[in-house]
Amino acid sequence: MGSHVSKTVADELAPMQIIDGKSVDAVSGERINVVCPSDGQVFASIPASGKADIDQAVGAARHAFDEGPWARMPAVERGRCLTRLGQLVEKHADELAALESRDTGKPVRQGKADVTATMRYYEFYGGAADKIHGDTIPFLDGYTALTMREPHGVVAGIIPWNYPLQILARVAGAALAMGNTLVIKPAEDASLTAIRIAELALEAGIPGGVFNVVTGYGREAGAALSAHPLVDYVTFTGSPPTGTAIQQAAAANNRGVTMELGGKSPQIVFADADIEAALPVLVNAIIQNGGQTCSAGSRILIEKPVYEQVASALSERFSGLVAGPHEADLDLGALINPAQKQRVEDFVAAAEEAGISVLARGRVHEDAPKGGYYHPPVLFGAVDPASALAQEEVFGPVLALFPFADEPDAVRLANDTDFGLVAGIWTRDGARQHRMAKRVRAGQVFVNGYGAGGGIELPFGGFKKSGHGREKGFEALYDMSATKTVVFNHG
Ligand code: NAP
Ligand code: MG
Repeated sequence: MGSHVSKTVADELAPMQIIDGKSVDAVSGERINVVCPSDGQVFASIPASGKADIDQAVGAARHAFDEGPWARMPAVERGRCLTRLGQLVEKHADELAALESRDTGKPVRQGKADVTATMRYYEFYGGAADKIHGDTIPFLDGYTALTMREPHGVVAGIIPWNYPLQILARVAGAALAMGNTLVIKPAEDASLTAIRIAELALEAGIPGGVFNVVTGYGREAGAALSAHPLVDYVTFTGSPPTGTAIQQAAAANNRGVTMELGGKSPQIVFADADIEAALPVLVNAIIQNGGQTCSAGSRILIEKPVYEQVASALSERFSGLVAGPHEADLDLGALINPAQKQRVEDFVAAAEEAGISVLARGRVHEDAPKGGYYHPPVLFGAVDPASALAQEEVFGPVLALFPFADEPDAVRLANDTDFGLVAGIWTRDGARQHRMAKRVRAGQVFVNGYGAGGGIELPFGGFKKSGHGREKGFEALYDMSATKTVVFNHG
């Protein structure tokens, strides 16, 4: 958690939030320190907003929706605004990538990959805006019935700190394409790029009041936003308990929600798999972003005949992994904050105490600043399927291995958590690929591959505790709109 500071501490990078097309400070005038996880040093500050600021932003978004040109603008024009925003993201790619890496501690190449995906989201939804339409429905004689897609109105987007640019883009791209207006509350640990994107949105021609960004703590600004009676729809990515609180707040106003609440996603390696091809993918799926990824492949289920072979190949790779500062662009960066580091340490200590073997451990680079929030990658096996390590989202570079006996055993283990976000299946047997893809409970299934991050065209979301609703691709446009049915009686 940051601390309140006077405005003088980080004057060189002290952006305002964006409300109604204007750069404004918090009503209270208070600010939150922004820390770089790579060294633990303050390098900027953001407004510490609360209910009064949220009232202003929701009021602006309400007015822009009800009275402004945005919702009535031809879809092609809205699309062009989003396309221009994508082009501006591309133009400012280096600046945005550097800012994102410094704010979150992620290696520079990950920051760059995030910017590329961000640009693609705005490009995709810019192109999609005028390609979604309703139906005509065969109905009674003397009637014509049709449907149209209508925006919800004011959409509240509560964004986490792990992929701030990308998650904002997947929410904003789809919501704006359908003609909604937005109030975004980024995570207090990573708000800088959201402010910058809202500035670029104005430059792209998106009218003031359509794309508002309010920074502040979740318990203050976030809670006020999700409970606001003038908000029509809430979309959230983050932890299940916060998701529950946000749904309860939205339920008090009977508003719809999209919830993306993380996972405990399995990759399933059968004995007939191309193991050499799988290995780098298995490692990357848990190391990317330090394991702070909702779709992280945090469990690997391995068919018994190849368990030892895969476990020892993974051990070798894990031993060589190095965490370090974002500029050094090593295998992984620092974790987002001291609380997240503590959470990972606690999971690792509890697993060791429970007698689960550590197969390998990476290291933190000797030159990494002592104040950074580093945790080395840890590989555990064989893990008890009932343990916390097998069941709960660690959100860190911790991988758990499980042997399985046969296909039904693999299905049982894969589905044996409360989550259901993503799964990977590694086998050369075509019929088994299809059977497994159907039987695994996950919103996305990859066969002989893994990775949701880049695939902006691919619908994404969870079953079970991983949430509900779908983001990305065309599907998100349906979540971000509602069907209106119109019936003409013409005799
Ligand atoms: P979190 O509480 O779920 O925070 C996510 C977002 O919700 C942030 O913008 C946060 O704001 C906001 N928020 C917090 N409390 C709120 C409330 N009462 N009402 C409205 N908004 C609220 O996650 P976290 O505390 O940062 O991380 C805790 C754990 O969540 C992690 O260890 C990880 O397991 C999980 N997580 C999952 C994902 C994912 O992508 N699935 C992403 C992040 C975290 P502030 O941060 O400004 O308080
Ligand atoms: Mg930060």
